[in-house]
Amino acid sequence: MSARKRIEELFLNNISRVITKEQISEVAQINEWARRVRELRDEFGYEIKSHKDEQSLKPGEYILHNPVPSPKAKERKISKDQYFRILHRDGHKCLSCGRTPVDKHPTDESRTIKLVVDHVYPISDAEKYAIDPYSDENLQTLCDFCNEGKWNKYSGKLGKAKINLTAMVRHAPRKDQLEVFEMLKKVFG
Ligand SMILES: [Zn+2]
Repeated sequence: MSARKRIEELFLNNISRVITKEQISEVAQINEWARRVRELRDEFGYEIKSHKDEQSLKPGEYILHNPVPSPKAKERKISKDQYFRILHRDGHKCLSCGRTPVDKHPTDESRTIKLVVDHVYPISDAEKYAIDPYSDENLQTLCDFCNEGKWNKYSGKLGKAKINLTAMVRHAPRKDQLEVFEMLKKVFG
C-alpha cells in the first residue's frame, strides 16, 4: 500500500477527529508526508483542514469531516496525451535518478521501476505563485521510487526538474561511485 493510501485510510478511519503530524508521518513512513496530504486535498478532493482553516487546530494538526471527496478536484487530471508527451520530452527516464523502466526498483528487486508524471510545484504551491499546476512546465517524469519521496527533494525550481546529483551517486552501483570518487580526487586531491 502506498504512503498516500495509508494516510487516506488514517483520515477515513478518524472522521472529525484531530490527526497530528506525528500520526501521519508514522503511517506514511516517508519524509514527504506533507506533500501526500496536499495531494489528497488538491488532487483527490478530500477537504482536509489545517490550522489555517480551523482556529481550533494547532499547527501540525489536521482534520477531515467529510469522507466524500469533492468531485471538483478530480475533474482535472493529466490526460493520456499529456502524460506521454511529458514522458517523451524527458526521454522516458526518471529526472531525479535517471532510472528507466528496465531498471530494478531499488528496494524491491523483484520488479522494475514505473515512470510517473509528477508536479514540480505541488498544486497548492503552484496556485500560490499563479502557475498553472497542469502546464507542461510544471510536470516532470519521476520513477515511482523517487516519487514516493524517499530521497527526492522538492526543488521548487519551475521548469527545471533538478537532478539530485548527490542522491544519484549515493544510489549508484559501487563501481560508478568509485569512478566519481577517483574523478573528484583528481580535481580536489
Ligand atoms: Zn527515480
